[in-house]
Amino acid sequence: MFKKILIANRGEIALRIVRACRELGIKTLAVYSEADEQSLHVQLADEAICIGGPQAMDSYLKADQIISAAEIANVDAIHPGYGFLSENAKFAEQCETCKIKFIGPRSSTIRMMGDKAVARETVKSYKVPVIPGSDGTVANATQGLKVANQIGFPVIIKAVSGGGGRGMRVAHNAVAFSKEFDSARMEAEKAFGDGSLYVEKYIESPRHIEFQLLADSRGNVIHLGERDCSVQRRHQKVVEEAPSPFLTPDLRKKMGRATIKAAESCGYENAGTVEYLVDKHGDFYFIEMNTRIQVEHGVTEEVTGIDLIKEQILIAAGEPLKYSQKDIQINRHSIEVRVCAEDPANNFAPSPGEIGLYYAPGGHGVRIDSHAYGGYKISPYYDSMISKVITYGKTREIAIDRMIRALSEYLIRGIKTNIGFNKAILQDPTFRNGDATTSYIEEFMSRTPTEVFTNEEVK
Ligand code: ADP
Repeated sequence: MFKKILIANRGEIALRIVRACRELGIKTLAVYSEADEQSLHVQLADEAICIGGPQAMDSYLKADQIISAAEIANVDAIHPGYGFLSENAKFAEQCETCKIKFIGPRSSTIRMMGDKAVARETVKSYKVPVIPGSDGTVANATQGLKVANQIGFPVIIKAVSGGGGRGMRVAHNAVAFSKEFDSARMEAEKAFGDGSLYVEKYIESPRHIEFQLLADSRGNVIHLGERDCSVQRRHQKVVEEAPSPFLTPDLRKKMGRATIKAAESCGYENAGTVEYLVDKHGDFYFIEMNTRIQVEHGVTEEVTGIDLIKEQILIAAGEPLKYSQKDIQINRHSIEVRVCAEDPANNFAPSPGEIGLYYAPGGHGVRIDSHAYGGYKISPYYDSMISKVITYGKTREIAIDRMIRALSEYLIRGIKTNIGFNKAILQDPTFRNGDATTSYIEEFMSRTPTEVFTNEEVK
């Protein structure tokens, strides 16, 4: 087993990894930027090394600095968390060259699945359904339009290197296509340094349903059921839950089987997620694979009782999976809400600053994963998520009521948050009925007066 792990991340996920390592008796090394000296992950890790300036480019994305820190501190493995270098095949390869175990899949798998057009072709060859679209990338707008005419409008133009909902544009007709194509290319070039695009049929109001999988180094693969992440704002997840209120046992079985095949198609190892869109007829289509731990992994942990971060570490250390598919029983419901330092009254603009009073909810069936505390300064340099509230209970209704109760207890003074917005969603009949699709938030916002979710006092 590893003796010391470097955590190449920050915020709540760095803290989450410190906690898993503590329980496994593994020492931790935190790396941090000058802006994060007071961060909880730095304070709670066994050792810490400052790796550069506040901008991610100068610290958390500096592969060479991180590898140097790993060598100086003599660590055995690096956990990349999510975001930053977690899906960077070059970084994983550097770790492989330096004989430091990268806690994730092999660099060749990351490379294959990191190109969404290649990923589509790879899983398709294993009979996993993909959305009708171009075979690989399209060279220009003319070629893209030809594909769009073949598959029929509306279509979605997507960046092969895309992530975080960027580099994606919907075109409803041929006239709009070229303009949207150019915008997608420009956005993708700016965000990912890669303007390669592909075209897919646009599915109207689908569900976003993803399956968590675990694969060990000996070829054993299992899935841990699904998460429904249909509640999204600008293609970014806001509320996630497990199991999905939409899936039937039959569809779950089919999607579970497809998930195992997707993992096999790329020789997957470690924890991963296969994302699908499901249309109103219950037809499902692969959209991408995330080759890392995800923000919303906690809901799966709460319904299966399996600690995914520990499993990642054990798999990376060469241990075989302790579970077979039939051991995975799901008999609870869990919901996660992402609490962000942002202002719903001001188009969700980030709201960095110092937290004054801070009181986090607790009690039966409530889990808080957060690096925030009273007096903590939320930096403008990073993601605005400051806490994940996860509730669980025997039924979906209990988990929802518990979430509303938990959000009502949360006190975060000094900055704006989306707590009131999240609470309004949890109270909304469409969500409560389990009817939310990816168009839900837009529809919810158009019929809900802003005052409902901009009130600082959420009680
Ligand atoms: P990213 O990697 O940027 O998160 P994804 O491919 O995972 O992009 O898609 C993110 C979201 O965008 C999906 O959950 C869905 O809401 C929307 N989306 C993506 N592809 C399609 C499509 N073909 N039809 C409809 N919506 C889509």
